[in-house]
Amino acid sequence: MRYLVYSHDHADQATGGEVFADTATFISHSNAVEKLAALNDPRTPVPEISFTDELTIELGGKTLELYYAGRNHSDNSIVLLYPERRLLFAVDFIPVNTLLFQNLPDAYPDEWIESLRWIDENLDFDILVPGHPPLPGTKANVTAVREYLEDLMAAVRTAQDQGLADNSPEMVEAVRTEPEPTYGTWGMFAEWLPLIIEGLLRIWAETGATGATPAA
Ligand SMILES: [Zn+2]
Repeated sequence: MRYLVYSHDHADQATGGEVFADTATFISHSNAVEKLAALNDPRTPVPEISFTDELTIELGGKTLELYYAGRNHSDNSIVLLYPERRLLFAVDFIPVNTLLFQNLPDAYPDEWIESLRWIDENLDFDILVPGHPPLPGTKANVTAVREYLEDLMAAVRTAQDQGLADNSPEMVEAVRTEPEPTYGTWGMFAEWLPLIIEGLLRIWAETGATGATPAA
């Protein structure tokens, strides 16, 4: 193997590359390098090449393009575009008809929306390969996840404006009702909904966001 590209630093996606270390050059976003080095885990070789915005790889007459779309599910998630096959690998942050993972650990919800918008506007592809099943998706999933996040955040803010207590069963019920007709068939919709609400509220509190709709 010539290159091993870390999609981001999370352990479930970044462990085990040592089996290719005899031949592969390891690549990641620059924000991932220190985090992967700090693991000090022989199963996770430290990247030798890193980039901040984009990197092109030529291999066997084929071209692969790596892009950083900003912070979303982590601060170092990159996507891999294979233009010849109109295919995009985007690991963990554009789930295919499935809820975003649990309570949004390590996430940046507002910037997540912006990074999805950037991908929508700048990258040309038909097939989307995410990090976990179900596989695969299409470019429409990028818009779907963005609209889901926007709708969810608006629903939580509305629930707060109505005076419902954070994370209360009443808030979860209010937030569930609104998006259910559109997203109710998504995997883990009911199971992870209380978790994603908890995650949003936690991140808003940590970052000083009030959760209130910003004044125009
Ligand atoms: Zn991840």
